[in-house]
Amino acid sequence: MNNSFNTVTIDRQALVNNYQLLSKLAGESRTLAMVKSDGYGHGQIETSQALAQAGCDLFGVAELSEGVELRESGCRGEILTFLGFDRGDVDYFFSCTLTPVVFTRTDLQALAAGSVKHNRSIEVYLKFDCGMSRLGFNPSEYQEIVEFCKSLKGLKVKGVMSHFPCSDEPDSPSNNAVYERFTSLLNNSAEGSGFEGSLANSGGLINQPQAHFGMVRTGISLYGYHPAGRQAGQAEKLGLRPVLSFHSRVLQLNHIKAGTGVSYGHTFVAERDMTLGVLPVGYSDGYFRALSGKGEVIIRGKRVKICGRVCMNLCMVDVTDVTDVQEGDPVTLIGTEGSETIDADEIGQLSNTISYEVLCAIGNNNQRIYM
Ligand SMILES: *Cc1c(COP(=O)(O)O)cnc(C)c1O
Repeated sequence: MNNSFNTVTIDRQALVNNYQLLSKLAGESRTLAMVKSDGYGHGQIETSQALAQAGCDLFGVAELSEGVELRESGCRGEILTFLGFDRGDVDYFFSCTLTPVVFTRTDLQALAAGSVKHNRSIEVYLKFDCGMSRLGFNPSEYQEIVEFCKSLKGLKVKGVMSHFPCSDEPDSPSNNAVYERFTSLLNNSAEGSGFEGSLANSGGLINQPQAHFGMVRTGISLYGYHPAGRQAGQAEKLGLRPVLSFHSRVLQLNHIKAGTGVSYGHTFVAERDMTLGVLPVGYSDGYFRALSGKGEVIIRGKRVKICGRVCMNLCMVDVTDVTDVQEGDPVTLIGTEGSETIDADEIGQLSNTISYEVLCAIGNNNQRIYM
């Protein structure tokens, strides 16, 4: 049995719409669809299939196991893995034809050894840290690493990558510094021009057109959100449409008297006689406890507020003013109902996080259905 009171709905058409807009924005550059972490909660395999039908042939995952799973699902595009691998798993790159993004010498050696064993060469991307202070070789090692790769038989450097730390803030001076560092890497060697450069995430794709190079890597915007959040409706301006919606239902109506405390800790006390809608959704479903007393949901087209703390599997909302509310009524937690919309940016703002985390938490903790 796989039925929950709560369902996540994935709108494949919205996903394809977003992909087409973004790849148009990318111009001549190739557009990699980031489907890591189960497609940001949208389902890695299903989203990749929908994207492939729309012409996408380049996918990015975090761990090797995700790449193996994606390949085994029948994906025929190029699949890049971004987080390295355990030495014992190197064979998968050859058996599944996956392309590693590499940031250590030992991984380069392991891949070269794999290439000898499988009698076939392998293409790799080299990752350099140009300002994120996360993964990557140091840019000062560039020539050395390129020479090292040349000395390893069977290893072909296809491209060079880095990552923007602040591309969602167009005015950050970091953007130009990272761009300059990356450009000088590519320019400062004879090989450089032959490598495919890739620097831009969604923020870079949208805000830094000079930084598209050969490949852009887009994640959050594929799923309909602007990396900077809801600032001035930028996602709508670009024509991006949220792909994920989240629904529950009213499990019970609970009539309480003025002065009654609600949920753990009684952080909410009714100021009037009121009707609570009890919803079978809570933080174990990815509906953050930080929404306690703050979040809103839509019932019968009307926005209503969460009263008191969000529990593990339940929360209460004030439905006193919702005309004709009934037990069993559908509830929109993320999505549009009538003239009201709640999106992952709103939930992120209220819970002091970003749409990315909201989508992963909700998408990966609920039954998904695909439109
Ligand atoms: C996740 C990720 C991206 C995509 O970032 P978005 O902000 O979601 O577009 C791009 N590049 C790398 C290396 C990533 O880890």
